[in-house]
Amino acid sequence: MRSARLLRIRGVVQGVGFRPFVYRLAREHGIAGWVRNDGEGVEVHAEGSPEALDAFVDGFAAPPPAARIASCDVESVPPQGCAGFAIRGSTATGRPTVRISPDLPVCPACLAELLDPADRRHGYPYVNCTDCGPRYSIVLGLPYDRPRTTMRDWPLCPDCAREYDDPLDRRFHAQPVACPACGPGYVLESGGERWEGEEAIARAAQLLCNGGIVAVKGLGGYHLAADAGNAAAVAALRERKFRKEKPFAVMTRDLAAARSLVELDAAAEALLTGAARPIVLAPARRELPGVAPGNRDLGVMLPYTPLHHLLFAAGAPEVLVMTSANRSSEPIAYRDAEAVERLAGLADAFLVGERPIARRVDDSVARAGVLGPVILRRARGYAPGAVARLPLPGPLLAVGADLKNTVTLVVGGEAFVSQHIGDLQNYEAFVAFRETIRDLTAMYGVEEGELTVVHDLHPQYASTAFAQEIPARARLAVQHHRAHVASVLAERGAFEERVLAVALDGTGFGDDGAIWGGELFAGSLAAGFERVGHLRPAVLPGGDAAAEHPVQAAAGFLADLDNLPDLTAPPFSFPVRYLQARELVAKRLRTFPTTSMGRLFDTVAALLGFTRKVTFEGQAAIWLEQLARAAPPAEPLPLPFADGELDTRPLLAAVIEKRRRGGDEAKIARAFHRGLAKGLCQAIAALAEEHRAAAVVLSGGVFQNELLLEDLTALLTPRLPVWSNREVPPNDGGISLGQAALAVREL
Ligand code: ZN
Ligand code: ZN
Ligand code: FE
Repeated sequence: MRSARLLRIRGVVQGVGFRPFVYRLAREHGIAGWVRNDGEGVEVHAEGSPEALDAFVDGFAAPPPAARIASCDVESVPPQGCAGFAIRGSTATGRPTVRISPDLPVCPACLAELLDPADRRHGYPYVNCTDCGPRYSIVLGLPYDRPRTTMRDWPLCPDCAREYDDPLDRRFHAQPVACPACGPGYVLESGGERWEGEEAIARAAQLLCNGGIVAVKGLGGYHLAADAGNAAAVAALRERKFRKEKPFAVMTRDLAAARSLVELDAAAEALLTGAARPIVLAPARRELPGVAPGNRDLGVMLPYTPLHHLLFAAGAPEVLVMTSANRSSEPIAYRDAEAVERLAGLADAFLVGERPIARRVDDSVARAGVLGPVILRRARGYAPGAVARLPLPGPLLAVGADLKNTVTLVVGGEAFVSQHIGDLQNYEAFVAFRETIRDLTAMYGVEEGELTVVHDLHPQYASTAFAQEIPARARLAVQHHRAHVASVLAERGAFEERVLAVALDGTGFGDDGAIWGGELFAGSLAAGFERVGHLRPAVLPGGDAAAEHPVQAAAGFLADLDNLPDLTAPPFSFPVRYLQARELVAKRLRTFPTTSMGRLFDTVAALLGFTRKVTFEGQAAIWLEQLARAAPPAEPLPLPFADGELDTRPLLAAVIEKRRRGGDEAKIARAFHRGLAKGLCQAIAALAEEHRAAAVVLSGGVFQNELLLEDLTALLTPRLPVWSNREVPPNDGGISLGQAALAVREL
């Protein structure tokens, strides 16, 4: 008895060795038929005895390592009388919905070949196979085949072609397959001189050992590399990049080197060695001068391209600063001509490979947090993965917020979140934003005119202006903090669950035009979110610009405190900017109402000694968290909740009083965190009961503060489940997903 089945498999199933896997599985079970790629994924026609077919279908439970099966539909069909099993060519029909694989780190088998002097790919930086190598960063179109990748200009040599055509080979249809005989090469350029191949890499390693700064072309862009143990090299890098204090990430030679540099628990190691190979934030064991000044945590990643391994094998320092190649706040450079031009003066040498990068993809940043792993910057290794299913009738584009921008495209009910793009006030980043939208829509065959476009409520966001200009079927505005909350629920597919949600961040445009950032909501994705609580409104002299000067935020938050001492006197010693800001407040000039938790953190940081200008977003809040960690748990400061308002005045008065009496700054910072957690917990408990909430949702950039999250979760978990972000960042990088999720209700 011969029967037949048609299998339709969706998910990350192209470019990951799926067809050869099916081929081998078919041979193993004596199945006839064929397999092919198309715009939706993989289609398999299988013929054989019913028992053999069942065993064949069961085999899909263990797919190739890089594959991610989203769904597998099996249907009985009439047998066609197939003889043998064939791998057929790809078909491109209709709108593609197949998921593109993220870029993958070099696999153990390829790494072994890379380092084996007898192998024909010994020392070849472009070694890869179906289990590893570039994907998203080389794709030009779908379905995923070599002519639609940036490898299309390198025809295969006979040896590579044999591997590529052999279904039993590890490189069967590995689209970027190459070797020294036929593939792209690497050169090192420095001061008009040029070295190729092995020599290029050896000289680059030597330069790094001598304190040089080398621009290294990676998967999704250029890095600037320098010896992390060489303070002079690190200082030179800071000066050339115009990056004063923002921490640099480092790459260590291997896991052992990472372990000696930072404290890694099992969860952090799993992230570090996982397929995405993100930068992992972990507590430093020793200080590398200038790398992450004043910071307890260090961002560490492992080598992920063959080139990285070759650099270390050639003797590069064991720990390298690896930072995006750009000047401060510009997006990472990824086109060769552009890189050489933009990075002239930043790098002493350029280590450049010939394979073009199809699109810019930064390194991702993650942490093993209190509530589990959390992605703080979603890019290489994760993008463009689908992170949620959203029941939307047509294609939708959510353009995110202006800071830490990402965009989300929903097609076929799947939400694809773009890689981290950057801060859109920066012109280059805005160009990248438009490119990414064009790129994603083209990839999935979406015309701009058929899109529903969702944007932030902020009328002055560049993303809002863009959303209003492009052709669209419909447009929707979503309030910033509701989008933060929705991002958590979208990840979980929780549409109906009623929650009590807390959104804490720096800045977001509120329903009433005020600067929100300390908000409590009740509701669900299905029913929408009602604002049921917030910080007591303060005034903010200078508006959003106050984010750069903690003392300016302090002038606003302390404005109606009784018996305020002269803060320009010791121990506070506020600079004159504080007095100028108080003038603005007194005259109600350029002064805006705010409930921003970020600015409350700034205020307390200023009161405890951070009175200078910040040099990167969130710096004062991070400083305050680090300070608090230096002290043991302290008695919480008062933050009473009544009539929907968390009154910050008693808390601020306590901070001032304790510091004036010579209290230890670290202890006060700790007591502030505890007070915040306790006050929030009381508000949450009261509101959750009133609004019959089944869980608590925590989102917004402030929840990157692990100490607050720890304190708050400890208080909340005995009462209610606590949900926070996992797949998309709690910061504004998660806004686009939340916007898309809230559109479901409107449509
Ligand atoms: Zn491999
Ligand atoms: Zn070759
Ligand atoms: Fe935000």
